[in-house]
Amino acid sequence: MDVSWNSCIKRHRENILDGRVKKMKTNYHTHNELCGHAGGTIEEYVKKAIELEFDVLGMSDHLPFPGDAFGMRMKFEDLKTYADETKRLKKAYKNKLRIYLGGEAEYIPGYEKYYEQLLNKMGFDYLILGQHFYMNGMYYCANVYDDMKTTKDVMTYAKSAMQGMATGYFAYLAHPDLFFVNDFKVDRQLKKAVDYLLNESTKRNYILEWNANGLRRLTTSYPNAYFWEEVAKTNIPVIIGADCHSVDNLYDWAMEISEKKAKEMGLHVIDHLEIK
Ligand SMILES: [Zn+2]
Ligand SMILES: [Zn+2]
Repeated sequence: MDVSWNSCIKRHRENILDGRVKKMKTNYHTHNELCGHAGGTIEEYVKKAIELEFDVLGMSDHLPFPGDAFGMRMKFEDLKTYADETKRLKKAYKNKLRIYLGGEAEYIPGYEKYYEQLLNKMGFDYLILGQHFYMNGMYYCANVYDDMKTTKDVMTYAKSAMQGMATGYFAYLAHPDLFFVNDFKVDRQLKKAVDYLLNESTKRNYILEWNANGLRRLTTSYPNAYFWEEVAKTNIPVIIGADCHSVDNLYDWAMEISEKKAKEMGLHVIDHLEIK
């Protein structure tokens, strides 16, 4: 995969210099400084999107859970500020850009009321499902980065994602292939889990996200070649997410390569979400 990526990057840079690349004008996976590990205010992302002549900018910062049970995300006390500020900007820039208030969250069974409150009371336009954590058994909340020991764990991850997909709370599944941060070999167990996940996505016509941030890590973890070649055999809708943690990453080389590679692979790429 390394070799093909490198040649893809090289060819792609040539195209960029030629000005031959048609850029996407939407992004639904955008963080900001409130999560504590991203730079830039919400308004700075809005201004950048306008500069890039975007049609749509969906803000989707890492959502807290009541009691701040998980790290790497905004504090629960900042949730209202995040929502209010995004709504303010939505109005202020309405003639220049369509802004959506979204959030990225894990699906943890038992928090149904919370997701409903976000969507029905707090005015969130959409949520995206990012299973950085998932329930392993009744009581243990596992972390994709630290707790996945064997490819057998991929099935537990996949099942938790499928549970989240079934709730209807989430517009799409972000970085479905995140578990490859564990450098797993594609074995029988892993293939079985990927089959399960892709069958479920096909059945539900559920959108999966090609995550450009994986490329920025400059490892071969994700987007993963095996995973996306399997997706390419289906008609599952695929959205490309910048997953930007800095304003400069809203549309950068990782996004350009993502667009080109997804097209080359014949993925069924969509660039708009239907948001009521
Ligand atoms: Zn993040
Ligand atoms: Zn994200």
